[in-house]
Amino acid sequence: MIRTRQLAYQYPGGPALRFDDIDVPQGGVLLLRGASGSGKSTWLALAAGLLTPTAGDITVAGQSLTALGKVAGDAWRAKTIGFLPQKLHLSSALTVHANLAIAQWAAGQAQDDVRIREALTALGVDELAARKPAQLSGGQAQRVALARAVLLQPKVILADEPTASLDDEAATQAVALLQATAMRYGATLVIATHDARVAANLDDQIGFQPLFLGRQ
Ligand code: ADP
Ligand code: MG
Repeated sequence: MIRTRQLAYQYPGGPALRFDDIDVPQGGVLLLRGASGSGKSTWLALAAGLLTPTAGDITVAGQSLTALGKVAGDAWRAKTIGFLPQKLHLSSALTVHANLAIAQWAAGQAQDDVRIREALTALGVDELAARKPAQLSGGQAQRVALARAVLLQPKVILADEPTASLDDEAATQAVALLQATAMRYGATLVIATHDARVAANLDDQIGFQPLFLGRQ
């Protein structure tokens, strides 16, 4: 679940961003919409505990993030948040398998090859495990990044502009894949996008809500 109350963030020397309150139940889908610069990536960083609100509160999976310190925040994020960044940040020198293994290592866990295989299989990229990122298509690389995001079975999946630079068919697939993956893991899904194709492709039957930014 995600709950915000009078959430606000002020960049030093930057804009003051204020966000409408939302309540997303566990397993629900939140679509963050708004023009470029309206604060979508900032909202995701607040939900991931990467930024601390300058006012208001945000509670994610039962944890208020307002007073979470750096060290506690890092541990909390590793076990709670699966992040699919706009730029995928796969390590080019490492195989697909090793890219997932270092995610376990970074979270302080022992390498678990069974779980890595499970995540890659769930995203349909198991046969690409020995490849390097340069040997993947854009869609394949995104599936690998999503496998990495769900590897630690997060309660919340945050996706930043997941359809940027995808053609219509790939964009449709990416949205369906995100939603199916969140459902498979019982995770709450947040998609931040300025792309109207995402709303058109989301199955809004299930706990769906939109939040439009930049309209105050
Ligand atoms: P979006 O993801 O919707 O495009 P962002 O959250 O990236 O929007 O940015 C929201 C606003 O905050 C923009 O005006 C942007 O210029 C500003 N901003 C983002 N990051 C910083 C930063 N590190 N320092 C100052 N201003 C920033
Ligand atoms: Mg952004």
